[in-house]
Amino acid sequence: MTIPASLEGTGPACALCGIRAVVHWQKRLSDDELDAYIALEQARRDSATELADPAGPPPAFPLLPTAQDCTRLVHGCADHGISLDRAALIHLKACTAPTVADLPGCNCTPEAAPDPEPDPVPVQLPPGWITGGGT
Ligand SMILES: [Zn+2]
Ligand SMILES: [Zn+2]
Repeated sequence: MTIPASLEGTGPACALCGIRAVVHWQKRLSDDELDAYIALEQARRDSATELADPAGPPPAFPLLPTAQDCTRLVHGCADHGISLDRAALIHLKACTAPTVADLPGCNCTPEAAPDPEPDPVPVQLPPGWITGGGT
C-alpha cells in the first residue's frame, strides 16, 4: 500500500531527517525538558488553586511528577528506526538515537523492561469464544 501524497508530511517526523516517521520509542526527559514540564504542571496547579471556589476546600494534587514518571517519544522513519527489541524499552535521557553510526542500536543501555503482569486467572468462556487470539 502506498501512502497518499496528501498524508505526506503529516504526523510525527523522524528525529534525524524530518521525513514522515513510522516508528517511535520512549526516552527519559532531559533535565531541561523535565524542569519545563514540572514548571508547566506547577503553573497549571497554581491557576487551578487561584480559580477554585474560595468557599470550598482548596484543590488537592498528587505529588509533582519526577523523572521516573516522564518519558517523551522519539520518532524515526523507515531508515532511521532502532530495532524493535530496543524500541520496546525506555531509553536514557542521554540516548542520541537515531544516530546513523549506531543504527539499528543506540548509544545507551535502555532501562530493563518492567516485570510482566502476572498471568490473570484463566476464565472460562462460552463455547466458540477464542482466547489469546488463536493461531
Ligand atoms: Zn529519518
Ligand atoms: Zn538508547
